[in-house]
Amino acid sequence: MRVVTWGFGAMGRGIAKNIVESKFMKLVGVIDKNPEFIGKDVGELLGLERYGTRVRDSIDVIEETNPDIVAIATSSFIRDVLPQIEYAVKNHSNVITIAEEMAFPFDLYPEESAYMDSLAKRYGVTILGTGVNPGFVLDTLIIALTGVCTKVEKVIAKRINDLSPFGRTVMETQGVGTTPEEFEKGLKEGTIVGHIGFPQSIGMISRALGWNITKVEEERKPIISSVYRETSVVKVQPGMVAGCNHSAKAYAGDKCVIELYHPQQIHPHLEGVDTGDYVEIHGDIDISLSIRPEIPGGKATIAIATNMIPIVTYAQPGLKCMADLPVPRSILSSIR
Ligand code: NAD
Repeated sequence: MRVVTWGFGAMGRGIAKNIVESKFMKLVGVIDKNPEFIGKDVGELLGLERYGTRVRDSIDVIEETNPDIVAIATSSFIRDVLPQIEYAVKNHSNVITIAEEMAFPFDLYPEESAYMDSLAKRYGVTILGTGVNPGFVLDTLIIALTGVCTKVEKVIAKRINDLSPFGRTVMETQGVGTTPEEFEKGLKEGTIVGHIGFPQSIGMISRALGWNITKVEEERKPIISSVYRETSVVKVQPGMVAGCNHSAKAYAGDKCVIELYHPQQIHPHLEGVDTGDYVEIHGDIDISLSIRPEIPGGKATIAIATNMIPIVTYAQPGLKCMADLPVPRSILSSIR
């Protein structure tokens, strides 16, 4: 399989490394606009042997290399990735993207979704949004667990994670390092958004279970630190914000059917908070799943984006979500 990766940041370079190290995929091109990478050999940038593919800041890479699939890891938002997806599809390439809004774009972006779906079908290719969350922990995993239930009444899930490994952009969108007053102002002005993905996860679960969601309520609260915390990009004094406690409740009529909680902060262990992923399903049978510590976000996103490459390449054409495709599985374990 011939792959182009678009975006060579924390996630894109991980996907690129998996492809370089696999025996059945070839990294035929890498696109990134960062001058630090442009013109350099991908293998050397990854700390491996010379690979013979250089990072370029040109979309022509796709037309010139004619890949089976383009893996896009540039942005969270449809407004940014839609032109990239469009260009790849028009060059007859399948697409995987980890843009959070693409995990389930159908409800919030119906026109764009219809356009992408028809474009993909016209060119005979598949488009998928995936990632650890949205894309797996608070949606695909839950949907898979409901497969052993005859009737589901309610889903409650929680992902408690550590933001420490992430960069400046994530800290800013989560409000880490702000004062409580700055956090409230950021929420009002839209510079602090918390988790990007609740509407997408709720959309995917409710479509899978046939629930008609009539109302979604989201709440974002600052996690105020009582101790000093520090990462390579941010310092948090006691009394300042160490993260965002973001939650969402979805209603079918007046009944709350989905509750999702995603408190994210740097160094949660400094205040005795253990990370973990928890799912409760209530119905004809009750299921309670605990994964401790959390499934690590960066590594898992890189893995699932890589693992979905063959599935997407051989899927029926169109715009898909994770619930439309076969169960994800590790593809490099036996073949590498
Ligand atoms: P990053 O900032 O480390 O990397 C992004 C890279 O894309 C950078 O190297 C940048 O130069 C490049 N880029 C951006 N726009 C470009 C363009 N138009 N042309 C060429 N290159 C471009 O970010 P990351 O940590 O790798 O994450 C990438 C995106 O994926 C983020 O928006 C992040 O929120 C999202 N993400 C989603 C999930 C999920 O679970 N769905 C998980 C992790 C990250």
